Order: sequence, then C-alpha cells, then structure tokens
Amino acid sequence: MTLLKAVRGTRDLLPPETELWERVEATTRRVFARYNFGEIRTPIFEDTQLFARGVGEETDIVSKEMYTWEDRARAQSEKSQSLTLRPENTAGVVRAYIEHKMGETGLLQKLYYIGPQFRRERPQKGRYRQFWQIGAEVIGPPSAGSESPLRDAEVLEMLASFLDELGISGWTLVLNSVGCSTDRPRYVAALREALAPVKHQMSEDNQRRAETNPLRVLDSKDPSDEAIVANLPKIADYLDEASKAHFAAVLAALDACGVQYEVNPRLVRGLDYYTRTTFEFTHGGLGAQNALLGGGRYDGLSEMLDGPKAPGIGFAMGLDRLILTLQAGQAESAPTLADAFIAPLSESLNAEALALARDLRRAGLRIDLGDGAFRIKKSFEIGNKLARKIVLLGEDEQRSGILTVKNFATGEQTKIPRGELAQALQNS
Ligand code: AMP
Repeated sequence: MTLLKAVRGTRDLLPPETELWERVEATTRRVFARYNFGEIRTPIFEDTQLFARGVGEETDIVSKEMYTWEDRARAQSEKSQSLTLRPENTAGVVRAYIEHKMGETGLLQKLYYIGPQFRRERPQKGRYRQFWQIGAEVIGPPSAGSESPLRDAEVLEMLASFLDELGISGWTLVLNSVGCSTDRPRYVAALREALAPVKHQMSEDNQRRAETNPLRVLDSKDPSDEAIVANLPKIADYLDEASKAHFAAVLAALDACGVQYEVNPRLVRGLDYYTRTTFEFTHGGLGAQNALLGGGRYDGLSEMLDGPKAPGIGFAMGLDRLILTLQAGQAESAPTLADAFIAPLSESLNAEALALARDLRRAGLRIDLGDGAFRIKKSFEIGNKLARKIVLLGEDEQRSGILTVKNFATGEQTKIPRGELAQALQNS
C-alpha cells in the first residue's frame, strides 16, 4: 500500500507555524475593523457560471486552473449542475451583494473575507493549489460614493497601514489605470493593431491571447515576448478625461496621506473585471512570486452578473505569501510552552488531576495534563518539553491540598496550596 499524502499543491499547516497565521488573521480583523469593515463568509464552491461570467472565460484562471465538476442531481426536483471550487472570492462577494439586495440600503458595503481559494497552477514556492486569501471589497450604488477616487485611496492607505502594523516593510505599491468601458475598447483596438504584424513571433499562449483578449498579452511573464510587449501602446495614452481625472485624484489622495507608490503603465492584472485603478503590492523577499496582493476597481462586475449598477474596489492578499515574508530572516518559531504540566503520580489520581486542570484552565491558564501511568521520571521528561512548570499531584499532595510546583528554567521548587495555585501560576 502507498502512504497517503497531502495532494500536490496543498499542505498541512502545523503548530507552531499556525500561531503566526492566527496573529496575521487577528491583525487583519483589528485593522479592518478600524476602517469599519465587516466580515463576509461565502461558500467555498459556487456555480461555475459565476466565475465564467465574473472572472472571464479567457483568463488563465477560468480557462485552465479551475477545479470544476458536474454535481449529479440526487432527486428529481434537482438539476445536475456544474460547480467550481472558488478560485477567488470577489465574484462570490458580488454575487452575495446582489442576492441579498445589499445595494438597497443605499450605503456602501465594506466587506472582508479570509479563506482558502483553489487554482490548478504549477506549484512552487509561494504558489499553491489551495492557498489562502485575505480580501476586502467596497461596493455600493453610485449615490453612496462608490465611484469616488477617495474609496480607492482609502483602501490603499488601509493596506499600507496593515502591512506596517504587521511589521512588513520593503513593499512597493505599483498602480495603474486600465480605463473604463468607454475608453478601454479603443485601447484594445490599438493593441490588436500593434500585435497583428508581430504576434506570429510570440509564444503560443500570447498568439492566442492576441486574438481573443489582447489585454492579457500585457500580463505575460514570458521572457521571450518581453521586447514586443515593451513596445506595445500604453493605456495611459488612451484614457478619456474622466478616467484620467479619476486616476489623478487617487494619486493626489495617496500623496496627501504619505502612501508611496510607483505607476506602471503595463499593470493590467489577470482578471477581466477590472476597470480604472488596478494595483499590486510587491515584495522583494518573495522571489519569482513577488506579488503580495493585487486588486482594483470593478465598476461593471455587478452588471456582468445581472445585478444593479454597483461600482466597487477591492483586493486579495496572499496569506501564504504574507507568512513567507514574515518568516524570512526570522528564526524558526519555538512552540509555545504551557504555563504548567499537571502530573498525577498514580492512575488513581488521574480524575483528580483532570479536575485540577479544569480549574486552572477556567482561570485562563494554558495547561497540559499527564497521566498517572507515566510515574515521576517520564512526567518530568514530558513536562519539560511542554510546559514552563510541573505541578505534582501525589497521594501526599491530595491529602494535604498542598501541591509541589517546580520551575524547569530555574530548578526552583515550591509548595503551594491548591486554592492559591492559579494565582501563583499567573504571577510567575
Ligand atoms: P489574484 O486573485 O490572482 O489577483 O491574486 C491575489 C493574490 O493572491 C496574489 O497577489 C497572491 O499573493 C495570492 N495568490 C494568487 N494565486 C496564488 C497561489 N496559487 N498560491 C499562493 N498565493 C496566490
């Protein structure tokens, strides 16, 4: 028999590493709450149509990377349906926004999520088939100010503050405007024209993209196509006055609050729904997969999903990559030690030991519990690996109600009445 292992591109997250994940998640919740965001949890699988329409058929995600299956009907009243493990979460959030008529509040909806996403990509450092994203969306009717460049700048400032608070420095914010539904077609036409005479020299993927979705050619990471890509027209030269003014206002607001950025006219990002502002935060420490997060505006997405007009802006951050960045240069974290290890010295004291552990845990202490079968030597060996102190519970201790506590670091041994134990452990 072969030993079963986690599937390629997936992995187990184990303690103590998960403590770092928890810390990042707690920081997310704390910082995002200050900006008045609330958490949304959407299903992990959705109707395949959601991604086909929302993310775009021609994107790499939809055309190559989705985990899709036909879900057979189980009853006559059900229809079989094509389902997909979510490859990203924005489409799901916008679907929920439409389904729950959130726009009818007339207010901006500020929603964040933390959860796994699934893409069948080629696994490598920082790229997995199940990976986690922290994301947020600001979406609402235009009357709520959802189109305002202030929203873009506020989201970007929140990200800068979040990374600062996590202690991640050395990031670069790169942004661009990809225009809107009126100016983008003119740019796409210009791209097509520029690509026509040269596309046969490009990689197979780019030849296909040049036909079906020329914007995607700008996304290409293929080094052999770099020279051609560098000479293509720039979107900045095709933006209409409204898009130009919008982008200028985003940059002015970032300047006003001291968020540093670089404008990159080639940044279009891999999802079709983006309009106007698109951005990435990159980090040098990540190597080839250097994007910590990406996002942008998606003013037409709700309507693409048959919803009301609901412009929005959002981002998704790779939690796996945030963790890699935090771990780089840091010593491997040691497991957290319990405050005390309770060691019953015979099996007849196991039940009493459990009751003692319960009392100490209810007092807020981190407690691990041995077993009377270990006897004293093994109890000390195990306790020393798991906790800062050992509490011995033998016949004498049970009778007198006075427990023996030994501090592993100092070797100091003290006698403490049971009623004072929680306090004593808390204070030391
Ligand atoms: P995207 O949804 O493609 O805009 O990606 C947003 C962010 O999610 C990226 O900047 C990465 O940090 C992260 N990400 C995307 N795909 C993966 C993956 N396969 N493995 C790990 N992180 C990923």
